[in-house]
Amino acid sequence: MYIRILGSAAGGGFPQWNCSCQNCSSARAGRPGFRPRTQTSIAVSADGDSWAIFNASPDLRQQINENPALGSKADGRLRNSPIKAAVITGGDIDFIAGLLHLRELEPFTVYASRRVLDTLAANSVFNVLDGKAVGRRELPFDKPVDIEGPAGPLGIRVECFDVPGKVALYLEDAAGGPGFGTHKGDTIGLKISAPASGKHFFYIPGCARVDAPLASRIQGAPLVFFDGTLFTDDEMLKQGLMPKTGARMGHMSMSGPDGTITAFERLGVARKIFVHINNSNPVLDDNSPERKAVEAAGWTVGEDGMEVRL
Ligand SMILES: [Zn+2]
Repeated sequence: MYIRILGSAAGGGFPQWNCSCQNCSSARAGRPGFRPRTQTSIAVSADGDSWAIFNASPDLRQQINENPALGSKADGRLRNSPIKAAVITGGDIDFIAGLLHLRELEPFTVYASRRVLDTLAANSVFNVLDGKAVGRRELPFDKPVDIEGPAGPLGIRVECFDVPGKVALYLEDAAGGPGFGTHKGDTIGLKISAPASGKHFFYIPGCARVDAPLASRIQGAPLVFFDGTLFTDDEMLKQGLMPKTGARMGHMSMSGPDGTITAFERLGVARKIFVHINNSNPVLDDNSPERKAVEAAGWTVGEDGMEVRL
């Protein structure tokens, strides 16, 4: 199985268009140790030829251009794409907006939870993906699904499960009810496997808490991509960037007693890679003490273009 990180940053990317925080200014200036990143997405292929993308970020066009395996092939057909499916893990802008890059009547299949499919259906701009070319299929919970492109199965199996999280910001309940109107299916994790090789891994780009069901699911996994939004829960508050904590945004933080590093300490996961890293996160500085700390704890800070083979 081929796994490629197309983008490793949280919403807004790195640097973010309107941000002059220390990290974004350094990335914009090209200072060593501050590698720019696009918004989080991975691509997976069983054969290195046909690909499924997992989330469609607003940077998808750039990501396709920077990853030749995902580009159109000069094989006689003027219009073609190796992207045969897009699997969406939530309704956030940085997970769905890239679908709009995939118009032009190229056939592929969109997979998402019922909640996300309803969001797409309620926004008529997504009708630009002509139903004659682009199928939309529901990912049921806790039931493995063989992902299919227009010409058949891709050799990739996906199991979708609910994880603690929060509804997308633009869909929050204005009355501020419990969880701001969060429902099952608003934040999902995926177990992705290649039945032919028997290999599998987990993709969980957004998560508010490692609860007991999630811990037992990923115990001993060979590879997990996980929510790396913030290093500390209040870092955006402290930097004056936003009056919200990570917890309020539905993301657990890397550090602290309730943080991701602690939560994974006893899970025996062989390879742990942070994705969805916010531009405020000090681990984006390759030389920061926070970066050294997460690496000492056995984590890799994801980078665009990183490839993992299982
Ligand atoms: Zn910034």
